Amino acid sequence: MKLVKLIANLGYGSRKDVTAMFRSGRITDAQGEVLYADDKVAHEAIRLDGEPLDPPAGLTLLLHKPVGYTCSTKDPGRIVYDLLPPRFRARSPLLSSVGRLDRDTSGLLLFTDDGGLLHRIVSPKAQLAKVYEAALASDLRGDEAAVFASGELMLESEQTALAPAVLEAVAPRQARLTLTEGRYHQVRRMFAAVGNHVEALHRSRIGGLSLGDLPSGQWRQLDASDIETLF
Ligand code: URA
Repeated sequence: MKLVKLIANLGYGSRKDVTAMFRSGRITDAQGEVLYADDKVAHEAIRLDGEPLDPPAGLTLLLHKPVGYTCSTKDPGRIVYDLLPPRFRARSPLLSSVGRLDRDTSGLLLFTDDGGLLHRIVSPKAQLAKVYEAALASDLRGDEAAVFASGELMLESEQTALAPAVLEAVAPRQARLTLTEGRYHQVRRMFAAVGNHVEALHRSRIGGLSLGDLPSGQWRQLDASDIETLF
C-alpha cells in the first residue's frame, strides 16, 4: 500500500493532509531520515514527528466509560469517541465499540477494528459473561435470583425468553448481575420486570477482563494476552 494511503487510513489526516506532512518533512524513518511518499518502507519503521505509528488493522482498546457519554459516532452530545485521540475516530477500517453501554452506564467498553474478534465477543454462541454492578432504588425482594436464573423471563416486546442470568445480592440495594447476552437496556429492563429500578449501573467485567485500576475516562490498548483473558 502507498505510504500516503497507509497513514491516512490510520486516521492521521486526509490523503491531502498526509501529502503535506511528507512535504514538510514530518515523516521520517527510525533514524530521522526524511521519507517521501513514494518510498517503500515497512509500517514499523515509519515515524510521524518522531513517534511510531499506531498499529495497522487489529487495534483493540479498553475504555473506562464515564456516565454521560453515548456510544455513537454522531450524537450531538458527548460521545465515547471524544475520550479517544481524534485519529482513532478517523481510522479505516472503523474502530467501533463492541456492543454498547447506555449514556447513563459507566464501565468497561471495548473498541476494535477486528470484525472477527467483535463477532467472537458479541456472538450469543460465545456466551461471554458480562458482569454489571447495579445500584437499586428499592431493596431486593429475595426472589430475583431465581427469576433471573429461570431462563423463562420475558421482557416486554421481546419474542424469546432471556437466557439464565446470575444475580448476587451485594447489599439490600446493590446487586451484581452476570449476563451472557446483550439485549437493549437489558439490566434496567430486567430489574423493572421484578418491580425495581436501576439508579446506577456499571459494567465491571467482560469474560476474564476487568478494568483493573484504569481511571474513569481513560483508555488503554489491549495486547494479545489481554484478548486471551477475554475468552
Ligand atoms: N444493560 C443496560 O440496561 N444498560 C447497559 O448499558 C448495559 C446493559
